[in-house]
Amino acid sequence: MRINVSQQLKAPVGSVRDYEVSEIVDMADGSRLVEGEVRLIRTNRGILAESKLHTEVEVTCSRCLGLFNCPLTLDIEEEYFPTADVVSGASLPLPEEPGCFTIDEHHVLDLTEAVRQYVVLAIPMKPLCSENCAGLCPICGHDLNQGPCDCLPQGADPRWSKLNELA
Ligand SMILES: [Zn+2]
Ligand SMILES: [Zn+2]
Repeated sequence: MRINVSQQLKAPVGSVRDYEVSEIVDMADGSRLVEGEVRLIRTNRGILAESKLHTEVEVTCSRCLGLFNCPLTLDIEEEYFPTADVVSGASLPLPEEPGCFTIDEHHVLDLTEAVRQYVVLAIPMKPLCSENCAGLCPICGHDLNQGPCDCLPQGADPRWSKLNELA
């Protein structure tokens, strides 16, 4: 996810460059293909990266506890600040915003860290392997996506139905 922006840093504010990226990125759960479009816009302070990227990560379904690949769309919008002057090579002071992204001294803008951060934010809190996931039987733990189990529906305990018959 590394793009050399030395030419664009010399270009006037507002100049735009579009890139297509398709790259393997190391994530917490392994290497994943990340692909999509990146638009870089020269700002008065650095370079604004606007990007729509697609990837997927392996997560656990919150209903059936099965692992599945969850597709993610990352809408990245981050400004990157140069750490070296593109003409003189002199070091530049960093802006005071904590955690801001930087362009390295070789004028390379690296989207990898932003991708990792946006992936973490994009993973749903309660992922579902499918909208209709049947989940697990609360009695025996059987995965009901694989078919019904032998447990009776709740409230149909046979000991109680006998009582109901007497009533
Ligand atoms: Zn599921
Ligand atoms: Zn069951």
